[in-house]
Amino acid sequence: MNSGDRERYSRQILFPGVGEQGQQHLLDARVAVAGCGALGSFQAGALARAGVGFLRIIDRDYVELSNLQRQWLFDECDVEQGLPKAEAAARKIAEINRGVRVEPVVADLTPSNVEDLLGGVDLVLDGTDNFETRYLINDFAVERGVPWVYGAAVGSYGIAMPVIPGQTACLRCLYPDPPAGAQPTCETAGVLGSVTALIASWQVSEAIKILCCLPSGTAPARKITTVDVWSGEIRQVAQPGPVADCPACGRREFPYLAGERRAPVSLCGHNAVQIHERERPLELRDLAARLAPLGAVRANEFALRFEAPPYMLTIFPDGRAIIKGTTDVGVARSLYARYIGA
Ligand SMILES: [Zn+2]
Repeated sequence: MNSGDRERYSRQILFPGVGEQGQQHLLDARVAVAGCGALGSFQAGALARAGVGFLRIIDRDYVELSNLQRQWLFDECDVEQGLPKAEAAARKIAEINRGVRVEPVVADLTPSNVEDLLGGVDLVLDGTDNFETRYLINDFAVERGVPWVYGAAVGSYGIAMPVIPGQTACLRCLYPDPPAGAQPTCETAGVLGSVTALIASWQVSEAIKILCCLPSGTAPARKITTVDVWSGEIRQVAQPGPVADCPACGRREFPYLAGERRAPVSLCGHNAVQIHERERPLELRDLAARLAPLGAVRANEFALRFEAPPYMLTIFPDGRAIIKGTTDVGVARSLYARYIGA
């Protein structure tokens, strides 16, 4: 640590939980931020300020005007320039802390690139907006013994939980399978910027505790935390240890890593992609009510049609969907996650 570092991080070093040794661990740390939306952009900025030495920021989307209400690192110039979020984040961080090495990656995290994108890091922060990617992160992290911090927020509600393989329960210990049916998303249910900042900040605190390598016995007890900033409720439960018959921790089965749980996708006719989801029974009338404020919807018992120009989604009761207006599989998956919840 040089004298500049000592000055920059002086207040954090003074805090006994971090100290000079903890700060050195942060400077040496390599962290992946998976998803750079509301949670990820806050996490990336906060970790850069805290002095985490290397950040890989993974996100496939571009900064849009509707992001600015809650995505802390971005501004109107990023929207005007149409910058990818990962790249915009890297530029902002270069202005905040030149000492941090940032690797922006404009891509979706998938079973085929997870090794490249999450390999070689000390910790993964969940900034994703869908369960498919979270289960992929969990599989990777448990298989490799890499800690990660789960977080999610929608509406005024949020949840955060650290996963330390071998020490704590993992995501599949608690939820062996992703939730069924359509899920509320920020697109359909809205979200307050304050709850995303709160959850992201909580995740960053957990990350710093893990990265400071606190000697065993001095680390604070791990907890699962849920908050609702509107009702004002906060709940915490002690986080259990690994569950013996958990498919991931216990039986060491990693279907998400192998891509087995990913709904197959095919190009479908001219300028359309089909997502062959068959295990996500949907109540089309409920979904229609949720989507109605966002665009034209028509639904009967056989199919739902939703217009999100330039795209049109046709959704079937078993969860299958045809997304018209693109041949890009990543765009199709992203629209599915936004409007149906994945
Ligand atoms: Zn587990």
